[in-house]
Amino acid sequence: MPFANTEIPGKFQAFLAQRGIRMTEQRRAILNVIETAKKHLDAGQILRRARKLDPSIDRSTVYRTLGLLKRHGLIDELDLMHLDGEAHYYERKLNRDHIHLACLRCGRITEFVSDLFESLKEQVEKECGYRIAVARLEIGGYCSKCRT
Ligand SMILES: [Zn+2]
Ligand SMILES: [Zn+2]
Repeated sequence: MPFANTEIPGKFQAFLAQRGIRMTEQRRAILNVIETAKKHLDAGQILRRARKLDPSIDRSTVYRTLGLLKRHGLIDELDLMHLDGEAHYYERKLNRDHIHLACLRCGRITEFVSDLFESLKEQVEKECGYRIAVARLEIGGYCSKCRT
């Protein structure tokens, strides 16, 4: 499919292009949604936003693209304490891992970065002989507004 698009590609696109992954308009739209998301989105929310950019996108295209991004380590998949049933949430992977705090009453999600989490991973690698590919810490509790 020829591209007339001259926009500057985002980080995901550049990364995938370097690895020879074919870029389609549909994929480009889905990457765009994930890259510019300001909150954690589930697959249904990604689908709705992507369809505004390209109405031909369907659910399986979204899942295939999420699978591709996961395989390349570009996104993390979270369940956020299953506050919302079985939904999984996706976010672009940042340079540093962050901890997710989920309020079990109001559903607020807070992201928290700590050096201690980095130390814990180092300790695991050293003492268990692991090379960590994914580390995830989710905490459920009551936020400052909801705690009694
Ligand atoms: Zn709360
Ligand atoms: Zn997050």
